[in-house]
Amino acid sequence: MRLLFLGTGAAGSKNKPEAEIKEGQRRCSSMMIDHNILVDVAMQSFDYATKLGEDTGAITDIFLSHTHRDHYVKETLLAYAAAAGQKINFWCHEGAVADLGLSDQEAALINICPVKCMQKWETAGMTVTALPANHLAGGPRQQPLHYIFEKDGKTLFYGCDGGWFRADTWEYLRAKNVVFNAMILEATVGELPGNFRIGTHNTVPMLRLLLEALRENAMLPRDAIRIADHLGVPPYDTVQKDDYGLLTELGMTVAYDGLVMEI
Ligand SMILES: [Zn+2]
Ligand SMILES: [Zn+2]
Repeated sequence: MRLLFLGTGAAGSKNKPEAEIKEGQRRCSSMMIDHNILVDVAMQSFDYATKLGEDTGAITDIFLSHTHRDHYVKETLLAYAAAAGQKINFWCHEGAVADLGLSDQEAALINICPVKCMQKWETAGMTVTALPANHLAGGPRQQPLHYIFEKDGKTLFYGCDGGWFRADTWEYLRAKNVVFNAMILEATVGELPGNFRIGTHNTVPMLRLLLEALRENAMLPRDAIRIADHLGVPPYDTVQKDDYGLLTELGMTVAYDGLVMEI
C-alpha cells in the first residue's frame, strides 16, 4: 500500500481554502491510499492532491472517520465527486449521514454507503473493517470510526480521531487476533499536561501505554510501522528542527503533509 499524507494536522490547522501553507505547517486530515482511495476529506485535500500532481479523477472510494470540520468539508467531497470518472463510494457511519449537510441534489452525485461498527466488507480491492473510536462528533447517532484496511497481505490501522481505545474495539482486535503491519495513531495532545482534549484524543503517555499493550498482545510486531498523525495546534506548531521529542523516542514516524510511505 502506498500512503500519501495530504493533511496531518488537528483542528486549528490551516482550514481556509486559500490559506498559505508555510514550511512545517499542516493542513487538516486527509490521506490517500494507492491512487484510488481517500480517508477523510478536509478543506485543502483536493487542491493539495492536485498540486502534487495526483490524478484526483481516479478516486473511487472515500472513507470518513467523522464529520468534524478538520476531517470533512462538503465542498471537498463534491470537488472529488466532480472530478471522478464514476460515482464515488462514500463510506461513513450510518449515523453520520444526517450530519453530512448534503442536499438531495448533492447526495445524488455520490454513492453514500452507510456502515455499522464492527462491519467488515470488500471494496476497491481491499477488505475494510469499521471500529468505534473513543470520540464524539455531530448528532447523537453518529459514532466516529477507526478503520482497518487490508490489501496485498498488509494490514493498516487508521485511528484519527479517538483517544485510547474503546473497550469493544480493543476486545474486537484481541478476539480476531489482528496483527498490524502499520498503525496510524493520532497524537493530538502530545506532551501537554492537563489538556482538555484528553477525553477524546491521545497524549504521549497514552500512546506509550497503548503501543506497549499492542506489542505485548501480539497485535503490533516490533518491526511494524508506527505513524503519529493529526498533530495538535498546540503543541506541535512550535516544533523546531523536526524535534518531536518523545514521539520519536516511541519509535513513531511523525507524518507531515506530502509524506509518501510504502507499507
Ligand atoms: Zn480531528
Ligand atoms: Zn474529531
